[in-house]
Amino acid sequence: MTEESKDLHSIQNLKGVGPKSASSLNNLGIFTIPDAVMHLPFRYEDRSFVTPIGDTAYQVPVLIEGEIMKSTVVFRGRRMLFTEIYDGTGKLTMRMFNFAMAQHKALEEGKMIRCYGNITPGPNGKQMIHPQYQIFEREQPIEIEDNLTPIYPTTSGLQQNKLKKIIETSIKFCEENNLLKEDPSKGSYSKFGNLLETLKFLHKPPVDTNITDLIEGKHPAQKVLIKEELIAHMLCAGILKNELEGRTGPLMAEESGNEGSFLDSLPFHLTEAQKRTWREIKIDLTGKNPMRRLLQGDVGSGKTLVGALSALHANSNGWQTALLCPTEILAEQHFNSFQTWFDHLGIKTELLTGSTKAKDKKQIVKELAKGEIDILIGTHAIFQSGVDFNRLGLTIIDEQHRFGVHQRFSMLEKGGKEQLSPHQLIMTATPIPRTLAMTVYGSLETSVIDELPPGRNPVQTSSRPDSLRDKVIKRVEEVCLTGKRAYWVCTLIEDSEELEAQSAEELFKEISQSLPKLKVGLVHGRLKKDEKDSVIEKFRKGDIQLLVCTTVIEVGVDVPDATLMIIENPERLGLSQLHQLRGRVGRKANTESHCLLLYKEPLSGMAEERIKTMEMTNDGFQIAEKDLELRGAGDIYGIRQSGLMDLKIANPIRDSELLVEAQDEALELSRNETEFAETLVKRWIGNRVDYSES
Ligand code: ADP
Ligand code: MG
Repeated sequence: MTEESKDLHSIQNLKGVGPKSASSLNNLGIFTIPDAVMHLPFRYEDRSFVTPIGDTAYQVPVLIEGEIMKSTVVFRGRRMLFTEIYDGTGKLTMRMFNFAMAQHKALEEGKMIRCYGNITPGPNGKQMIHPQYQIFEREQPIEIEDNLTPIYPTTSGLQQNKLKKIIETSIKFCEENNLLKEDPSKGSYSKFGNLLETLKFLHKPPVDTNITDLIEGKHPAQKVLIKEELIAHMLCAGILKNELEGRTGPLMAEESGNEGSFLDSLPFHLTEAQKRTWREIKIDLTGKNPMRRLLQGDVGSGKTLVGALSALHANSNGWQTALLCPTEILAEQHFNSFQTWFDHLGIKTELLTGSTKAKDKKQIVKELAKGEIDILIGTHAIFQSGVDFNRLGLTIIDEQHRFGVHQRFSMLEKGGKEQLSPHQLIMTATPIPRTLAMTVYGSLETSVIDELPPGRNPVQTSSRPDSLRDKVIKRVEEVCLTGKRAYWVCTLIEDSEELEAQSAEELFKEISQSLPKLKVGLVHGRLKKDEKDSVIEKFRKGDIQLLVCTTVIEVGVDVPDATLMIIENPERLGLSQLHQLRGRVGRKANTESHCLLLYKEPLSGMAEERIKTMEMTNDGFQIAEKDLELRGAGDIYGIRQSGLMDLKIANPIRDSELLVEAQDEALELSRNETEFAETLVKRWIGNRVDYSES
């Protein structure tokens, strides 16, 4: 693809895509119009028929339709909207906690409504909580979909319906411009016509398609694509490996420079596991080839310090370090730690995030290029072009699962004037099975911190149903009045920062009202950086005793004096995320910490298992394993989120029997069909990889 045509196919040029949606699409890994067509549903719903309310059962998702009888706002501890729906066979109540007044108004008596969701037993009989719904007039019925309804993984700022529309438009665009229609004899999708036809099938499977097959990734149309994607990743891993073996890493000596005085200045000793992993890293750093090492360690095991030792070593040898973080809060936290650790050694650390003021950024960019900044800590902002290092020797990526392949590649290209490949250290709390790491990354070494700093007590975890909420609130008050500090985390199903912020605000009101004796604070993703900082700082100092927050605190926030965490609606979160959240407490030596999971009844079987697992163990590795097992075969998106790799459709655990076949074909392609190999890599991984270079 030429530069020009690449531009032409940029997702930004699609009708209906503004800069805001473009940036959300980019977050999903969609940069071009074909990328959008390759963004596949992660599940399907059958909304092809309406079920009479009288015939519905509990805990099965259904489409119902009826007349709005009444819509009222009530207070039951919190504000709720009840809408009664009747269809001649039965009555159902739609119940909402987060709603705008406009929504209430639109739910007018006498109008018709169609809802899709799970039915649960409620105070007035059958109810649906926050279903998806459409309102219409009896005279103007809305059409029923005649295919399975695709549900796409999406991200904040991009509604499911909008994304669906964008994908539909992208499909049309590809049809008109002859994209994704490669010669079927090359791939194995001939059964469905060509690649585009195969993709179209998966975006809109006919209603008679076996939905279980689709959910489990066993449909032939999926298998074709799964294998192709695995092949693309193997080809890519091969390229990276070749490329790295061909390149030289930044040269570093074995001498430890400042290491001794740094370690002496710490208020604690390294754990044995930290010492061992640091030794392993140091051997790589002083070798000839660029390091590619994964540093695994449970939440709280002290990975940051090992990262800091690596940065210090790079610095002693005259190299700069970049530390990449998935969130601003985490970047700031690291920045503070690094300043405490390194300022007195004359090592200059800077922070660059999306909220850095333009003036400061200009200064940072200038100093960075001159080599006056030794360590740059930041978020995605570091990837921007124009941010150039003088002598980048080491890239540390924290919690890598939030970064995509694109960004890993782009850091390879920031090697500075000398065009070397910087050493790379990836820190993660998610264990990645070794065989998988090899498949995906080619040559990735692993170091494991398998020990927590001394004196850490496991967090005591228990669970309570929401019906005991008042008791829990009372208990939190008692605990906080003894001088302890607590988090109260609120979670939301939909990935929407705005809704999440809104419900955190409501929770904050509720809690502040019921606990007038406590100083309560609030942080959520919608606050400005200064506001966030000042609240967290007050919490750290104890000026705030109870912090109501959203999952923004999941990574990075380090307030060792906080020893209690309440997680609302834990049933909405995956195990790994729960564990990560819980890791915010239990950080103070010789102090007991507690985590209380305040769940909504009734729990699904899976949710119950997750909660039980949390109560039973604090071991991150065990939790990660259970997580994979529970996510089961169906949850492709979950695997992706859990950080195993940047996959669109394949799940290397579920699809393990395809790995060998894919490996053979990848080898064959890389030998005899380099052009098609290049097409595959570009298609699945992006344009950053220049296949011709290897
Ligand atoms: P994670 O592995 O989750 O990134 P951190 O690096 O954030 O963990 O470390 C968690 C906490 O433990 C930090 O407050 C850190 O200063 C502290 N810490 C790190 N190493 C040690 C150690 N050897 N002894 C005591 N505390 C330590
Ligand atoms: Mg960390």
